[in-house]
Amino acid sequence: MEKVAIVTGGSRGIGRAIVEDLARKGIKVIANYNQSEEKAKGLRENLEKENIFIDIFKADVSKRKEAKDMIEYVIKKYGKIDILINNAGINQEKMFQDITDEDWDNVMKVNLYSVFCTTQEVISYMIKQKNGCIINISSIYGINGGSCAVAYSATKAGIDGMTKALAKELGPSNIRVNSIAPGCMNTDMNAYLTEEEWNEIKEETPLEKIGEGIDIAKCVEWLIEDNFTTGQVISINGGLVIT
Ligand code: NAP
Repeated sequence: MEKVAIVTGGSRGIGRAIVEDLARKGIKVIANYNQSEEKAKGLRENLEKENIFIDIFKADVSKRKEAKDMIEYVIKKYGKIDILINNAGINQEKMFQDITDEDWDNVMKVNLYSVFCTTQEVISYMIKQKNGCIINISSIYGINGGSCAVAYSATKAGIDGMTKALAKELGPSNIRVNSIAPGCMNTDMNAYLTEEEWNEIKEETPLEKIGEGIDIAKCVEWLIEDNFTTGQVISINGGLVIT
């Protein structure tokens, strides 16, 4: 039977590119969305024109019940979950002293708690299957920090810590857990950047370009096929951050 993958935040940006790529590779994909229902439906329709059939599911993954309902829906319909891509996330650009408790809690819930609860809801099934691949989308900001993005950077470093610890815990159950830490990508998340800022980023990047969702999707594809990589943070960033 074909592999079954859930991609959180799958209707736009990096998540959408992952959904398209995996679906075209013959994986049954459930694209999660929260607010972008029209985009999720449009994505499903576009793929149908290629005779590719994905499923879409609305859930705010920062809420335990909604994440749980999504996982239960997938198990009921497909009987298993082979791959979980924790991609959903929000940006937060604020001077450190301007971050309120509410701002902090919000970015923690959407970026970090969502990974905790969605993964927790999935792993009981993966442990029973003795097979699974979990990929968390973190960020270069989790590696080297982003100015005016302290809370965001903390969530992404938190995701990488979770990846490493969980890889140790779940390795004996044949579940691989890895992070992909993108550099600067051409998505809505960066729509606020001016042309001058885009050019500056390109100049700072050894490969002299901005990343596209497909660059991340190709790494996801590789991690799904691989069977000896776990607990790693793979940064796809054009050389912007080299550790
Ligand atoms: P994007 O274009 O802004 O898309 C964000 C996605 O997250 C949307 O699909 C959105 O879904 C989803 N999302 C947000 N809150 C959600 C929630 N509570 N429940 C379910 N889905 C939710 O951003 P992107 O650039 O593709 O970013 C994807 C991931 O890559 C994020 O984790 C981001 O931090 C990370 N990243 C991005 C960059 C970059 O330069 N863009 C760099 C490093 C890391 P709805 O629209 O349906 O609500």
